[in-house]
Amino acid sequence: MSRGICNLCKNKDTRVHFNARRDYYPQAKKDDEFSCTSLDLSNPGEIRKCPSCGYIFTVSHFTEEEVIQKYTRVVDTLHLHEKAARQKTYRVSLDLIEKHVTAPGKLLDIGSYVGFFLEVCREKDWDVSGLEPCVWAAKYSSDTLKLENIVNQTFTPDVYQNQKFDVVTMWDVIEHLFYPAEKMRLVNQLLRQGGLFAFSTHNMDSLMAHFLKDRYPFLMSMHVSHFTVDTLEYLLNKAGFELVEVKTHKRYISLAYLFNRLSRYAPVIAKSRTFFLPDSFARKQLVPISFMGLINVIARKIQEI
Ligand SMILES: [Zn+2]
Repeated sequence: MSRGICNLCKNKDTRVHFNARRDYYPQAKKDDEFSCTSLDLSNPGEIRKCPSCGYIFTVSHFTEEEVIQKYTRVVDTLHLHEKAARQKTYRVSLDLIEKHVTAPGKLLDIGSYVGFFLEVCREKDWDVSGLEPCVWAAKYSSDTLKLENIVNQTFTPDVYQNQKFDVVTMWDVIEHLFYPAEKMRLVNQLLRQGGLFAFSTHNMDSLMAHFLKDRYPFLMSMHVSHFTVDTLEYLLNKAGFELVEVKTHKRYISLAYLFNRLSRYAPVIAKSRTFFLPDSFARKQLVPISFMGLINVIARKIQEI
């Protein structure tokens, strides 16, 4: 990411939004910082805001190529214990999609990870495809979940050439993108006219983001793009979409995972959890979280790019 230049509107005069120093959090192991369940919040880098379009971005310590290399090598077995919670979350997201499109149809999940969302879609007879850079996650979805159309590579213009989908999804992906405008144009090219683009991300205009400021947990080193609903709409419109619906994303997590996340703030309580809540119980109890400022966004392709 070019230092200081807004890659949405190309404004060169961006401002420091937060000087996010995170040395009050325990340092996570460096090799797991790019996994989905990582606790690493140690030093996300300088966070800047464009006064012209409102886009907020992190001046990453890494180049885009370095980050992609890190994603390909992730192994995140902790995530597998969250299957029931993730799939409960994804069922709600699929219900939202099915409100706006004739179902089932042809669906592509970009950043499909271990395939939990695609498995939910397959149960409802969607014709599913997944694109996933992580070698371990792509292999899990093909070998263990028996998902047939998984492509193990990054999102580049040549992938899925000449194919059109009814729905493209990106769950918790857009905040990882160095050049989100470029990728949204690629999503447009993959959709039929009138097709849906559905994604989730954290909202910088949420109560929690305003309240926690530089301690907002989604300002972590692997997240480089941060949006408000206004900047998302601006970005979507530029890429040939109209915004259809924005809804609070209710995420289910297991009690075990909740305590795992709490270990960052209250390590003693989190560590003592296994004495009063054994893993076998805590992994089965699902807790809805809807106050962290996550949103589901539904957009429709209205223009060929
Ligand atoms: Zn801008």
